[in-house]
Amino acid sequence: MKKPEKKEKGLHPANKHQGRYDLEALVSAEPALQQYLMEGKHGEQTIRFADPEAVRTLNAALLKSYYGIENWDIPAGYLCPPIPGRADYIHYMADLLRENNEEITPRGSRIKCMDIGTGSSAIYPIIGIYEYGWSFVATETDPMAISSVMRIAEANPTLKEQLEIRPQKSHKQIFKGVLSTKEKIDLTVCNPPFHASAEEARAGSLRKVRNLGRNKTDKAILNFGGQQNELWCEGGEKRFITQMIMESKTVKNSCFWFSTLVSKESNLKSIYSALKNVGVSDTRTIDMGQGNKKSRIVAWTFYSQQQRDAWRDR
Ligand code: SAH
Repeated sequence: MKKPEKKEKGLHPANKHQGRYDLEALVSAEPALQQYLMEGKHGEQTIRFADPEAVRTLNAALLKSYYGIENWDIPAGYLCPPIPGRADYIHYMADLLRENNEEITPRGSRIKCMDIGTGSSAIYPIIGIYEYGWSFVATETDPMAISSVMRIAEANPTLKEQLEIRPQKSHKQIFKGVLSTKEKIDLTVCNPPFHASAEEARAGSLRKVRNLGRNKTDKAILNFGGQQNELWCEGGEKRFITQMIMESKTVKNSCFWFSTLVSKESNLKSIYSALKNVGVSDTRTIDMGQGNKKSRIVAWTFYSQQQRDAWRDR
């Protein structure tokens, strides 16, 4: 099979998913993917991206081929993460830690990362554990998502060893109840629920499916891209992140770098002002681009320069 040379611009250089997917290799890793192949506009072979089952099977194939994950699955209707973009976040975080590690990317389970709202897929822990050998604490409020992550961990021994799941009992809390002032971790990552209401989440999903070339709306579409609870919270990502920043102050010595994805650029202004209000000692904004979708990570630390220098020795 001849693959047209079309380099996707903008992924982190360490990202394994540069260019087009090697569908042949993916089908041989996960034969079920075969039934979801179709011919694209230019006669090339592609995947029926508008079909949630196809996307789920593609993810299973990618995780098997690139991350050694067997039997990955998530409950129907739950957010199916686009893996290349999720991998980018982890690689940029590795760069951030590198700065204080004599320019060597820190690897191994002594690096401890907390994933806030790991979803049903545990996608960030999977990538961080398999790419860098870090260990993860994953928090989550949704019981169905938690059981799903437990199932995935159970089926993958390496993951199980390096992943701890900490249910967050309150939707209103981010670090409270899951990170104590006595604990020391190196990093937090988060892909926050970004819509402000269930309505907005539904509209977003519909738009996404239409962009993929489906005109008719049906039940499957309502399920596309995530269970409604996953995708929204009161006040949207702005409130979620602002709260995360305020709570991070209460555990400011427990973590070296806090971070989160920010999907709406217009939210940056209030995020920066919240960071200023809690008195962080440094912040970073890291732009990420995957195809036509732009996103960014905002990271902050309360560590002084002296504490940062001492971090490596610890
Ligand atoms: N990390 C996954 C899922 C992101 S969706 C991915 O990138 O694909 C956001 C997740 O945050 C949902 O699973 C939702 O249930 C969870 N969540 C919402 N509020 C939370 C809170 N206060 N603490 C922890 N998780 C929360």
